[in-house]
Amino acid sequence: MANLTHNKFSPDTLALHAGYTYDTQRTMSVPIYQNTAYSFESLQQAAARFGLQELGNIYSRLTNPTVDVLGARLAALEGGAFGVPTASGASAIFYALVNCAQNGDNILYSNKIYGGTQTLLVHVLKRFGIEVRVFDIDDIENSLPKLIDTKTKAIFFESLSNPQISIADTEKITQIAKQNKIITICDNTVATAFLHKPFDYGVDVVVYSLSKYINGQGSALGGAIIERNGLNALIEDNPRYPAFNTPDPSYHGLIYASLPLPIFSIRVIIEWLRNIGATLSAQAAWIILQGLETLELRIKKHSQSALKVAEFLQSHPKVKSVAYPGLDSDPYNALLKKYYTNALASGLLSFEVESHQKAQQICNATELFAVVVNIGDSKSLIIHPASTTHSQLSQEELLSAGITPNTVRLSIGLENADDLIADLKQALES
Ligand SMILES: *Cc1c(COP(=O)(O)O)cnc(C)c1O
Repeated sequence: MANLTHNKFSPDTLALHAGYTYDTQRTMSVPIYQNTAYSFESLQQAAARFGLQELGNIYSRLTNPTVDVLGARLAALEGGAFGVPTASGASAIFYALVNCAQNGDNILYSNKIYGGTQTLLVHVLKRFGIEVRVFDIDDIENSLPKLIDTKTKAIFFESLSNPQISIADTEKITQIAKQNKIITICDNTVATAFLHKPFDYGVDVVVYSLSKYINGQGSALGGAIIERNGLNALIEDNPRYPAFNTPDPSYHGLIYASLPLPIFSIRVIIEWLRNIGATLSAQAAWIILQGLETLELRIKKHSQSALKVAEFLQSHPKVKSVAYPGLDSDPYNALLKKYYTNALASGLLSFEVESHQKAQQICNATELFAVVVNIGDSKSLIIHPASTTHSQLSQEELLSAGITPNTVRLSIGLENADDLIADLKQALES
């Protein structure tokens, strides 16, 4: 596994170097290990690897050197103990949740989250016998504690959610979680480690879609699960987490808590990647590593241009309201200043116009903005959430998530901000 001895460096340095020690060819670019299985020096070594007495490669569904560099680099950037890449953000979230909860348990989740995650929680996990309970991200003290019982295994939220663009008061959530010894899982996809570090505010596990800002060019799907330093102490002997503290019959009676390793991640690999297999490919890992190298530069420009666009929209008579935490008038501006590097707020913003028809018409009238459900691309994107990304939600869920039929969402790309503003101006006035 790649080494993690780079922790004395700053994140922009880590994004270029962490987790990669040259292989025998000393290639500057991380090699793509396009490989399925690995040969053992002896049968004894093979047995030691299967028994976890020796860590090392067995088969690429579990580990791959290219993928491992990405996992180590993400963990270093986040200030975490270990990172496990997965095939997509969706699979990372599913694996992180089922690593905590099983049939009969419950998970608490924020009302403002990505539409796909909402569907996973409310509909899919239910089929696995896992109950979910929603809390109000804007009223944590009054909505979260009363949902907790002995079967509560995880609290899930997003640091910066879209399309309503809200910022979580992370410390309020993690304080309540710590009092009850419950694992918190934070989706940091939109903020990225360059804007916000959930581990600094007590979060236990960070999950990512790498398909957005981290890749940055809309060219590969990926996800990741990263655990904080010291998470083992929360899990060991904690009656909420029997799967880590009792023998695993599917792995010759292994007790995860007995391992001197980051056990949350090891179980993601041994239980979920091994048996279900949403593993990231080496090719995709390599593409995502290219994106990581320039993430710091990009997320700054995305954020600076989005602020300019938000200010323009706020001043336009056809726009009823703008949601962008970077605006002084935004309800989340104080939380942005508390939790985010240089109060940068990413490239995501949304705004309201007078009608459903006008919102749809603007999407079709833009020239530079492409109508796309993705976010975090180098190119600017526009979408009408109520008829696309969030169309599976009921009216009530839409309202609770802060979405109306008049909401338009933008993902501001790396084009010149003045060109983007001119394009939006002509679309609003067409
Ligand atoms: C896109 C997204 C996901 C899902 O990730 P995929 O890589 O598309 O599977 C999860 N969370 C957030 C916040 C996202 O934006």
